[in-house]
Amino acid sequence: MSESHYIGRFAPSPSGELHFGSLIAALGSYLQARANQGVWRVRIEDIDPPREVPGAAETILRQLEHYGLHWDGDVLWQSKRHEAYRERLAWLYEQGLSYYCTCTRARIQSVGGVYDGHCRTLGHGPENAAVRLVQHFPVTHFHDKLSGDIQADERLAREDFIIHRRDGLFAYNLAVVVDDHFQGVTEIVRGADLIEPTVRQISLYQQFGWAAPEYIHLPLALNAQGNKLSKQNHAPALPEGDPRPVLIDALRFLNQNITSEWQDLSIDELLKLAVDNWTLKTVPKIQHSQMRYAEL
Ligand code: GLU
Ligand code: ZN
Repeated sequence: MSESHYIGRFAPSPSGELHFGSLIAALGSYLQARANQGVWRVRIEDIDPPREVPGAAETILRQLEHYGLHWDGDVLWQSKRHEAYRERLAWLYEQGLSYYCTCTRARIQSVGGVYDGHCRTLGHGPENAAVRLVQHFPVTHFHDKLSGDIQADERLAREDFIIHRRDGLFAYNLAVVVDDHFQGVTEIVRGADLIEPTVRQISLYQQFGWAAPEYIHLPLALNAQGNKLSKQNHAPALPEGDPRPVLIDALRFLNQNITSEWQDLSIDELLKLAVDNWTLKTVPKIQHSQMRYAEL
């Protein structure tokens, strides 16, 4: 195999089993990594215990294996990474790049729903407080390798966003950046529902002085009502039988060239062919309506 520096990843939260929507993200990131002779890692984003479903992480890993999506190296568990997050939080604080905030949701709503930097200079301590980043590097747009230039909500891009929650949990944006950097991820392929936090993540890379990865946001699979397939709206878990017809549906969704003889192929042969045929050129670009602000 030729040498490549490409490192991709799939980073599910164990808040439920994988469904067709999550398969799109898993398969898309897998194909893009393999087509680039790259490494494909899996990271379990178990930093939010209240949202976790017991056993979901193990089920997700089993589902990936069942669908022939074999990852490289060990799975990284965010629950084992607290020290790294704490270290980065301490660094930001020491640099004067973060501060404690005791504002309530109600107060933020009363100033229009976007945080106004109220506590920046108040010198609160950690007691019952969230930690917010001093937004020195607002990023208002970024280049998506599938859909081109993507504009963020200007007010959200400029907000001093939360990096450590008041309930003591680490914020998704912090953990994802610290871990993608730690794992050497060069390109992130994920669903379009994660478009909005991307500009915040890029701004964190800038704060840390790290090179940001490239981004590809895949279109989202919708249910018959036009809503995103998600655990919240009870998308059915991936079927346990023959994975091939489901993989074929996912490849169709990604608008890939599919052989009519797929029934004669094993899962591994089918995936190998999908890697050989993989092209971003035909993947549907994302529609603006699919972007939403994920409060993570
Ligand atoms: N853990 C996040 C989720 O399942 C995805 C994180 C990412 O791909 O950046 O929605
Ligand atoms: Zn505040």
